[in-house]
Amino acid sequence: METSKNINLIYGRQIAIVGGGPGGLALARLLQLEGADVKVYERDINQKARVQGAIVDLHYGSGLKVLEAAGLMDAFKARYMQGADRFKLVDENANILLNDLFQTGRYTFGDENFRPEIDRGALRDILIDSLQPGTVVWDSQLINLSLSNGRWKMQFKNGTYDSSDLVIGCDGYRSRIREYLTDIKPVYTGAAIIQGEIDDPKTACPEIYQLFNNGSLMATGQGKMLTVQPRGDGGLTFYAAAMYPENWEKTSGLNFNSPEEVRSYLYNFYNGWHQAFYTLFNACSQFTYRPLNYHPLNLRWQTRPNITVLGDAAHLMPPNGEGVNLAMLDALDLSNCLSSGVYSDMEASLRAYEEMMFARASPISEETVEGIEDFASPNHESIQKLIRFFGNEENN
Ligand SMILES: Cc1cc2nc3c(=O)[nH]c(=O)nc-3n(C[C@H](O)[C@H](O)[C@H](O)COP(=O)(O)OP(=O)(O)OC[C@H]3O[C@@H](n4cnc5c(N)ncnc54)[C@H](O)[C@@H]3O)c2cc1C
Repeated sequence: METSKNINLIYGRQIAIVGGGPGGLALARLLQLEGADVKVYERDINQKARVQGAIVDLHYGSGLKVLEAAGLMDAFKARYMQGADRFKLVDENANILLNDLFQTGRYTFGDENFRPEIDRGALRDILIDSLQPGTVVWDSQLINLSLSNGRWKMQFKNGTYDSSDLVIGCDGYRSRIREYLTDIKPVYTGAAIIQGEIDDPKTACPEIYQLFNNGSLMATGQGKMLTVQPRGDGGLTFYAAAMYPENWEKTSGLNFNSPEEVRSYLYNFYNGWHQAFYTLFNACSQFTYRPLNYHPLNLRWQTRPNITVLGDAAHLMPPNGEGVNLAMLDALDLSNCLSSGVYSDMEASLRAYEEMMFARASPISEETVEGIEDFASPNHESIQKLIRFFGNEENN
């Protein structure tokens, strides 16, 4: 195998990254450090467009490793949310089953078990600020690609066009770029989330605010769950998860644009739970229904010489605390494959990257999908596992 550094696959090529989520932005940073000519085409109107979701925890062997490689650990340390890695598990009566004493303060940077949390928007800002000015092209929702003389012509919804030698789809679970590799469609897990946002939990739901104490709170009952997470701006996000038939948002007759209707559904569904949880529903004025989908575990495609995907676009799985970390790790592997000088041509380097990416993601996805089956089971095996796992950790 050639190992000469002078086979530079990125030199002289224009690289288009479609999608400026954690995966796409990390890739842009890593490739720019290698001297690549990169642009990130992002659908959002501008950097201030709201980033959905609450906090994410970055892991030692993935997200944090990538930040280290990207030279961004100091920026991360300046903005991560100290203490937000506290995790509390309660039952439907708000009795504490596990109080995650082992995490907070026990581990720190450099320790494999340390999983510092950061607001998604802050992570996005750190990555964007590390890029050369003008790298991110906002308001650029890609709607079509065509290949002409080995170059991709990209068409955007705002009526503009651009071209590139290599296209990397980092455009999330509804990826347009994936369609140029495979026609596979995501599969429904059987579970869905009703997501809500509360801007001022301190006054709107003080009991919950006290209980979650700026860490993560998970409340669990038979076949239903409520997770509460802080946001970097003092607000909170909650996720009400349960099993629902496919397309339930259409067949249920519930109007998700009507907060009153969703609230009254949730009061009923969580009937018998501690009153404090109802204050969450009361305080929320906008609910979003999110069916949880995943890609078939054996998904593979024939490598193409000038296009690939990473992150959710490549290996969608139900939320398991790994998605951002995996997307960033894909970015590191792809950047290394393109710039290492090990591969003789672009197709070989993309094939090597895709093999690594699938080998890593498939078993994690399989475990998560099994977890959802446990969640629906009568003895709630997933929670029993969680208690056993955390219980043992606490005793260590
Ligand atoms: C409810 C929920 C909770 C989660 N919690 C966690 C968690 O705690 N920890 C964790 O690690 N993961 C979590 N995840 C998963 C995580 O959000 C994803 O795995 C992760 O964001 C994937 O990163 P990405 O860069 O691949 O894609 P995304 O973050 O989805 O970014 C895709 C980007 O592409 C842009 N885009 C989309 N289409 C186009 C287009 N056609 N043209 C241009 N731009 C486009 C989007 O605007 C977006 O900026 C959660 C997911 C959900 C649904």
